[in-house]
Amino acid sequence: MPKARETVLEIDLDALAHNYNYLRSKLHEDVMFMAVVKANGYGSEVVDIARKLVDLGADYFAVAYASEGIALRKAGIETPILVLHPQSVNFEAIIENCLEPSLYSKFVVEEFIKIAEGLKQKNYPVHLKFNTGLNRLGFSEKETALVRDLLQGTEAVKAKSFFSHLAASEDWREREFTLMQIHTLRKLAIKLYDELGYRPLLHICNTSGINNYPKAHFDMVRSGIGLYGFGNDKTEDQKLKPIGTLKTIISQIHHLEKGQSLGYNRAFIAEKPTKTATLPIGHADGINRQYGNGHAGVIVNGKYAPIIGNVCMDMIMINITGIECEEGDEVIIFGGPQHATEFASKGKTISYELITGIAPRVKREIINN
Ligand SMILES: *Cc1c(COP(=O)(O)O)cnc(C)c1O
Repeated sequence: MPKARETVLEIDLDALAHNYNYLRSKLHEDVMFMAVVKANGYGSEVVDIARKLVDLGADYFAVAYASEGIALRKAGIETPILVLHPQSVNFEAIIENCLEPSLYSKFVVEEFIKIAEGLKQKNYPVHLKFNTGLNRLGFSEKETALVRDLLQGTEAVKAKSFFSHLAASEDWREREFTLMQIHTLRKLAIKLYDELGYRPLLHICNTSGINNYPKAHFDMVRSGIGLYGFGNDKTEDQKLKPIGTLKTIISQIHHLEKGQSLGYNRAFIAEKPTKTATLPIGHADGINRQYGNGHAGVIVNGKYAPIIGNVCMDMIMINITGIECEEGDEVIIFGGPQHATEFASKGKTISYELITGIAPRVKREIINN
């Protein structure tokens, strides 16, 4: 029986390489690959992930916030980094760290230009974001003249790319809507190329976009979830390899008699003699309360063991009746025999939320480096 010492999130860099190469194989060789590594590499270990992606040939990185880009620069990453959702208080730090902001409104463009001019920048690379239907961030199609005027009114910045984000690239029922988004971006970009007299990069596809909209790869794609091994689709999931396996250990085994209760609020009552195990992982580690009371389970020595009772802050209890195991044995929460997408769905959520929610106190262990 495999033994464990503590709760760890194992990160497999061979799996990352497999996913990168698989996604790359769907692209024309001229298309650039922007690796999205926001939120600590979707909850993994961003510096190791980014270094590996540099070796693999990633052309660009994307993070959500300036602080995430600064952390990569401090770790020695020199690849261009797009900051998807910068805040104006960080514009100086963005320039000092050679990060490239996404600019999505008149206000942020004007603020950024002010700072860039103050720092005597010339042609500082910026990425103009257009809202084509997600209605989250971005200039509307009607604002292309404004964008042109803002860009032509300064020497301090220069558009490195025009981009947009798809609302439902994984959903075939929304195909028409997605095609409309793609068409809108292409149309406004062509207009702007003409008026500006130069041609910034164009990009719109996230992971599911790469798979479902091959004609919309344009100059670059932005992939996050696929790199970490999830395809938002059964067939794609089989081609990708999840990079993370969340493992823990049996801290203690209890034998409940019929009628005895387990855990807070006595949420579990044994209907018959029940063998239980207590594990050192709880909602403060990212295993939220939705997984408790039998909704989800874990794998003990190859067998499925339901989580019983309420999830505690630092512990969960599982039913191991009939499973051969002892204290100190390894337990798999997700990864390997239990796909994280399946585990997530039992907790009424999706892989993105599950993996980015694994708390910083869970030790990350890099394998196959
Ligand atoms: C997070 C994000 C992505 C990556 O999406 P995946 O579905 O994880 O591939 C791409 N573009 C933008 C703007 C994002 O915010």
